[in-house]
Amino acid sequence: MPRDAFDRTIDYLRISVMDRCNFRCTYCMPLEGLRFLPTEELLTAREIQTVVEAAVDVGFRKFRITGGEPTLRRDLVEIVGRIRSVSGVGEIAMTTNGVLLPELAAPLVEAGLDRVNIHLDTLDPQRLRQVMRLGDLDRIRSGIEAAESNGLTPIKLNTVVVRGGNDEDVSGLARLTIDRGWHVRFIELMPLGGGENADYARDHYVSNDEVKARLESEIGPLLEVPPTHPSDESRNHRFAGADGVVGFISPVSAPFCGACNRMRLSADGRFLLCLLREDERDVRGALRGGGGIEVVREALRKAVAAKPIGHELSEGRSIRTRRMHQVGG
Ligand code: SAM
Ligand code: SF4
Repeated sequence: MPRDAFDRTIDYLRISVMDRCNFRCTYCMPLEGLRFLPTEELLTAREIQTVVEAAVDVGFRKFRITGGEPTLRRDLVEIVGRIRSVSGVGEIAMTTNGVLLPELAAPLVEAGLDRVNIHLDTLDPQRLRQVMRLGDLDRIRSGIEAAESNGLTPIKLNTVVVRGGNDEDVSGLARLTIDRGWHVRFIELMPLGGGENADYARDHYVSNDEVKARLESEIGPLLEVPPTHPSDESRNHRFAGADGVVGFISPVSAPFCGACNRMRLSADGRFLLCLLREDERDVRGALRGGGGIEVVREALRKAVAAKPIGHELSEGRSIRTRRMHQVGG
């Protein structure tokens, strides 16, 4: 297993396959003025497979496909199949807004996908349109059902809490865990992307302590669930007698850098050493320069060795100039 300079085991690679999206969530993408990567700058399915082969050689075992919105990638099923074909690959998960899962869940499972995290900020259809702009509650719900009926379980729902947007809707989402074995995870808003986007995040930030206090006063006590894995960034809880889990992911108020086990591959083929820092290593150039898998392996080893620790989000600083849809959340 690859260990970094801080003795962390780094065995989880999050692969962004696309920077485009069919939504424009307020904290992630502006409505206008976006420039997306041209297709030729995206890693191909074959190139992604080579990176995964190199990653497995280096000791990575868990892979997550993300974006932008990964389901917009036309060759997504092929990408999953290629990752699954690599011997030594463990779990393959995907983060998605879910709306294309009714068509895609079955072929993705057949290709080897194990699980999905689905992004849902509120159960109020009107407010959902305000926060997840272009989002549609019925279509996300159909996506969740398709994921569940095709065995992409346990279903994990991700909610980013936005002051004045969906902060009063958290109990409705948390109540879903009472009768269903779902995980509903509340994520603190991070000031990524610099400029207006970072200002928006700082102005609309809600701490998970506040979310938890609201859930306990509106629903009842939350009992702590011991972590199943030390690198799980979610602090999990359960309402008494509930089937599912309420999780808190708190990168701003309680950073989890000491247990971080992950690295990212951006859609344009760069290893991102940390979500919240600018450190990057180009791998597409090596691949397209004819370097082959050995060069990718070496780049990955060096990236793990150079992985930094710590960030300054709690001081309100925005460290990354790229937004979440560009780095792969
Ligand atoms: N489109 C997919 C989705 O929304 O799940 C995958 C990509 S999205 C960038 C991944 C995750 O990043 C989502 O759960 C989203 O809510 C989260 N996210 C985006 N911008 C964020 C921000 N500024 N702070 C915290 N989470 C953010
Ligand atoms: Fe799209 Fe996901 Fe960003 Fe929302 S958070 S705009 S669904 S990439």
